[in-house]
Amino acid sequence: MIIDCHGHYTTSPPQHEAWRAKQIAALKDGTPVPPRPTITDDEIRESIESGQRSIQRERGTDLTIFSPRAAGMGHHQAGEAANALWSGACNDLVHRVCSLFPQYFVGVCQLPQAPGVSPENCIPELQRCVEELGFVGCNLNPDPSGGHWSGPPVTDRSWYPLYEAMVELDVPAMIHVSSSCNPNFHATGAHYLNGDTSVFMQLLQGDLFADFPTLRFIIPHGGGAVPYHWGRYRGLAQDMKRPLLKDYLLKNVFFDTCVYHQPGSDLLAKVIPVENILFASETIGAVQGIDPETGHYYDDTRRYIDANEWLSDADRQRIYEGNARAVYNRLSAQIERQTALEGMTK
Ligand SMILES: [Zn+2]
Repeated sequence: MIIDCHGHYTTSPPQHEAWRAKQIAALKDGTPVPPRPTITDDEIRESIESGQRSIQRERGTDLTIFSPRAAGMGHHQAGEAANALWSGACNDLVHRVCSLFPQYFVGVCQLPQAPGVSPENCIPELQRCVEELGFVGCNLNPDPSGGHWSGPPVTDRSWYPLYEAMVELDVPAMIHVSSSCNPNFHATGAHYLNGDTSVFMQLLQGDLFADFPTLRFIIPHGGGAVPYHWGRYRGLAQDMKRPLLKDYLLKNVFFDTCVYHQPGSDLLAKVIPVENILFASETIGAVQGIDPETGHYYDDTRRYIDANEWLSDADRQRIYEGNARAVYNRLSAQIERQTALEGMTK
């Protein structure tokens, strides 16, 4: 089985994101927020059939761990109450996708974070998504200020109540910033990779996993700059009298394969232990074109894993399936539940 652990609903019916724009405008003008739009099952089916499902078929991947559009989270664009409504709408929509295509999508939730608001406020929505909707993880924005980095690092104790809930529910978080409020940082070309890299360094500086030995984070986009600069991070850890990174962080921190060329993907697999790599493409997402050097889509990341010359079949199985099932601990049971649901709808 090939599990893509990083997909967002980037092709949602247009009235969904249009409502968020109306919500933000209404808050600004002090006028009432209009009710959530009607979205039919047919509209959802069409958006998935022509989007994610057609790509799964083309590329031979089996299941996508699916979450709301990351850039659309926009935690910095509104306050706590508005973001709670928005997160609820986004998560409900992803749940409808998973219910309509139970064999192909398992949900991961957006959290109703807001700048300056304790992450504790996210616990009820996390619980709802995991316990009621069958979601298997969450996307955690380490910078809900959208580029100001005005909050504390992810190792700060203010995050602890949310981590306690994650540990209790046995779900991991993908560390994922949203859009950027600062034109110096392009969202997907700079802000995302900055977020990935910065959080890894925060984890290296802190000692979060001493307090939460079973907490698990996935750092997406190939881990930002981290694998490429692994020697720097090993050296910094050594200078700071930290244990070896493999003992200190790699029991809890995992990287995905959203690296869009062969040499980068090979480097990731060379530097980071196979146990810590989860297959992902972030399709349909940041980079949508065809690489003229190869004639294939940049984000067709399966090709890079398949073409890697030294990974064994067992390694590839771990990257494609085994590691995802281990990190998203509720995934296997959820796949079984949804497969049974698929059987009933046929
Ligand atoms: Zn993403």
